[in-house]
Amino acid sequence: MSSLTDSYGRKHRDLRVSLTDRCSLRCAYCMPHDFSDWLKSEHLLNTDELMTVVSVAVAVGIEEIRLTGGEPLLRADIVEIVSRISALANAPSVSLTTNGLRLVQLAKPLAEAGLQRINVSLDTLDRSRFMALTHRDRIEDVFAGLHAAREAGLAPIKINSVLLKDINDDEAPSLLKWALAEGYSLRFIEQMPLDAGGIWDRATMVTADAILASLSEEFELAPVPGRGSSPAQEFYINGTQATVGIIASVTEPFCGACDRLRLTSDGQLRSCLFSLEEMDLRKVLRSLDYSQDQITQELSDRFYKAVAGKLPGHGINDPSFIQPRRPMSAIGG
Ligand code: SAM
Ligand code: SF4
Repeated sequence: MSSLTDSYGRKHRDLRVSLTDRCSLRCAYCMPHDFSDWLKSEHLLNTDELMTVVSVAVAVGIEEIRLTGGEPLLRADIVEIVSRISALANAPSVSLTTNGLRLVQLAKPLAEAGLQRINVSLDTLDRSRFMALTHRDRIEDVFAGLHAAREAGLAPIKINSVLLKDINDDEAPSLLKWALAEGYSLRFIEQMPLDAGGIWDRATMVTADAILASLSEEFELAPVPGRGSSPAQEFYINGTQATVGIIASVTEPFCGACDRLRLTSDGQLRSCLFSLEEMDLRKVLRSLDYSQDQITQELSDRFYKAVAGKLPGHGINDPSFIQPRRPMSAIGG
């Protein structure tokens, strides 16, 4: 197996695959309620095209595929995708990040198809706050989806929460109490400048330090040593083995240990969430000039080129930082 090692010695093992930029929610930090700048549906990779890319990715060294979006459970072929990835030779581990709304219908088929791990995003436990944050009255569907995931045997179940000032930034301790009681593993993610509406503001974003301070009012937290390439700094809670994570992408970037690449739903390979450049894989997949073997070779070359051109860091904290043209929902979070 080859190795996707960049010029800074980082070995890339993890491919985040966005299956669609569409979504059933409108989280304020992700896209405006009236967002309409969707990718053209004919540009989205179909199941076979996606599988060609994933097979090449695995052949060049990718060991984990995380399916995301937009909302990945809106793809009609989601169970087939999980099943086909799980059936590959040298099958990578398959995980999923979802808003949970369709898990009642899909948790069991996904588990049976080989899904190994799941992250569900939930920022509040309060129905009216959920509506204010997402513009949809669907919190009960998330709770029902989480229940279905547990019943289907998906474990661990991780919860991702983003806190916004004066909206839900007082909720860190209650989210953690709830997650502990339910047996979910909770991680807070700092809000990043990747939203389609451009509402991110360094002055008002809720920092990892603020989250830690808020949690520390009710819990005793001790850092877990040996973080590896995990974006989350984990903390032991009250002297137990239970942990909570904080992903400080903005205030404490972890780019030095990054092992991720990203594939957008329209077939563009990115070496970073914040890349300003992309490798066009869709063009290769749809080229009439290539044989199947040449397509495989060219895709593989483009994986190596993307890794070779990867910058040392995302540069959010540089004065010259430019927010990428694509929002998080189109890149895949
Ligand atoms: N729709 C799915 C979901 O919400 O889990 C998958 C895609 S979503 C883009 C993936 C993760 O990115 C979610 O946990 C979401 O909270 C997070 N996210 C979205 N926009 C973000 C932003 N501007 N800053 C930090 N995290 C963000
Ligand atoms: Fe949709 Fe996920 Fe973005 Fe929320 S964070 S709008 S659920 S893609």
